[in-house]
Amino acid sequence: MESLHERDRVGVQDAVLLDDFKSQPVFVENLRKRFKENLIYTYIGQVLVSVNPYKQLPIYGPSVIGEYQKVHLFEKPPHIYAITDSAYRSLTEESRNQCILISGESGSGKTEASKKVLEYVAAVSENKIELGKVKDKLLQSNPVLEAFGNAKTKRNNNSSRFGKYMDIQFDRMGNPSGGHILNYLLEKSRVIQQGPGERNFHIFYQLLEGIEDEYLYSLKLERKQEKYNYFGFRPNNGADAVNDAEQFKEVCAALDIMGITQREQAEIVAIIASILHLGNVMITEEEGEAILIHDIHIETAAKLLECDLNALKLALTQRTITAHGDSIRTPLNRELAVYARDALAKAIYERLFSWMVSRLNESLLPQNNNLISGTVMGILDIYGFEVFEKNSFEQFSINYCNEKLQQVFIELTLKSEQEEYLKEGIEWEKVEYFNNNVICNLIEERYKGIIALLDEECLRPGEPSDLTFLNKMCEHLSSHKHFVSHKKADSKMKKVIDRDEFMLIHYAGDVVYSVKGFIDKNKDLLFRDLREVMSETGNSITKSVFPKSELMSKKRPETAITQFKISLSHLMDILMSKEPSYIRCIKPNDFQKPGIFSENIVTHQVEYLGLMENLRVRRAGFAYRRLYEPFLKRYKSLCPTTWPYYNGTAKDGVQKLITHLGYNKEEYRMGKTKIFIRYARTLFKTEDAFQAK
Ligand code: ATP
Ligand code: MG
Repeated sequence: MESLHERDRVGVQDAVLLDDFKSQPVFVENLRKRFKENLIYTYIGQVLVSVNPYKQLPIYGPSVIGEYQKVHLFEKPPHIYAITDSAYRSLTEESRNQCILISGESGSGKTEASKKVLEYVAAVSENKIELGKVKDKLLQSNPVLEAFGNAKTKRNNNSSRFGKYMDIQFDRMGNPSGGHILNYLLEKSRVIQQGPGERNFHIFYQLLEGIEDEYLYSLKLERKQEKYNYFGFRPNNGADAVNDAEQFKEVCAALDIMGITQREQAEIVAIIASILHLGNVMITEEEGEAILIHDIHIETAAKLLECDLNALKLALTQRTITAHGDSIRTPLNRELAVYARDALAKAIYERLFSWMVSRLNESLLPQNNNLISGTVMGILDIYGFEVFEKNSFEQFSINYCNEKLQQVFIELTLKSEQEEYLKEGIEWEKVEYFNNNVICNLIEERYKGIIALLDEECLRPGEPSDLTFLNKMCEHLSSHKHFVSHKKADSKMKKVIDRDEFMLIHYAGDVVYSVKGFIDKNKDLLFRDLREVMSETGNSITKSVFPKSELMSKKRPETAITQFKISLSHLMDILMSKEPSYIRCIKPNDFQKPGIFSENIVTHQVEYLGLMENLRVRRAGFAYRRLYEPFLKRYKSLCPTTWPYYNGTAKDGVQKLITHLGYNKEEYRMGKTKIFIRYARTLFKTEDAFQAK
């Protein structure tokens, strides 16, 4: 621990030691001090706060990993390796399943953190040849997923556009034996459109840049990005410092390691190329009927997907409607045909992505079943709370997800605090906290929650509309404390709410959502005719992701938000059954640059991450706790009974030591294995006495 002088300069390494733990500015100032000294990690008890340095620091790699191995969490400066080691040991020594929850906004360093966790686990487990393969596969799944699921955005040149939960499975020796990945909400709209300065998913550029001339020619593609409509805003869309051609080679190598066959790889390439061609398919209109211009693009798209050209053209311009057992083909107008074409491109890509994940999972299946101990460590790398100038369906989904994660956090932290007190035989002191169940209910309650109302409107016969949905919400929810309609908003409120907006008071803050597009995005319609054509393609991946069974099923497919709700509820079950560790990532500035710590931007995130609440919960009982052995080892020289000779138990020694130091009964409790200290100042006094010696 730092001395008094050090604390002034570099702050405290655990925020529970801050004198004024209720003050947000004090908390942020502590982070700032540490950031300036390249100390990017800070604890709040067992929660690790990480501030993105935006530069390579010499704090990673094998030798540092060695230092963190098997030392107690608080014996070394805060580090992601320390958190991981502590989770890994709980897993191997006590067979407790772990999950590491990483959250934070875009660009805060979640994905990099998840890689460090994986790196640590790979390094500390044994290095046998066949094990090496599993580790390689676990590590190589990253470049594949990033190629297909990441893109350059304004906030992050390598932004994950999907949520990811990965389980690492361990054998009885504590070595990784396999893995499993779950993916959430790929931002598929990016396939057809990107914001200014942003790019499509990396793989499109990697393919164009990295593939050999002849291959490219056979796909009827050119390297010129400006040729393709699905590459939006130009010219400023080269990802800084990204070499797409080189990365393509890496991705192909990773695909090889993951056991994805050459044939499968060729099909993947064909699908990506076909999407680029689809985007260039021109559609005009004559007398209200869409006309598809026959050219190289539609021809190549059909050829690459190996489907019947005429069937594809028809499905893009007409729609079969079945009424009273009769099928009638009706022409689409231009607008609808363009919609159908884009919906097809998005659906193909999204399904390819999911196929990729299940294919990676096949390859991560443990080879030797009797070695499996059943213990797992999960890593969750998922979008944090989002508040933009304009918030829509996507932000609503993401923020809903964060409400659910907060629920898990509350339950698991309070549970583990309670368990620790119980285990140590210390009386439990109740912690007051805000329970966000009320917001989760507002969103997901059965009949009149927001999701239920949205689905009801989407499935209503006739012309569902965003505004009718909004009216329904206002009608049913206006008395809810966390729902604010434009009517309810008054002059007292800081935010202006328009007629097509509503506001939710989330646990992390207020967010105004525009209802525009909610219905369309939730219905996520892909005309049946197109699904039919896709189910008959010769490209076996496409064929398998558009199964015939889907067409036969009489059941209406779930809406987008309901699918998400179901997968989230599954995720919650997974997380709740595990022992959690938390990594809260913060980005220090909006420029993706090192050395700049913007107080405003950090404060905002401290709020949305609920860090002050974390701190309060942690400080509510006994802020600081330490095992008897290390505590005695450090401070024994401060007491004549324990220094220079002492041979009693550590617990007795600590008792003698603190009695000698004059700890007051209110300030501490003696647990079975740990001393619990209520105030930071008590510990500081002891530390300063130690340093002064
Ligand atoms: P998104 O939600 O957009 O996926 P993210 O939280 O996953 O964002 P990362 O991609 O992990 O963010 O980090 C963004 C960039 O910040 C990285 O590409 C890297 O340049 C830098 N970075 C993050 N963490 C570290 C670190 N520990 N050391 C050095 N640089 C880092
Ligand atoms: Mg990421």
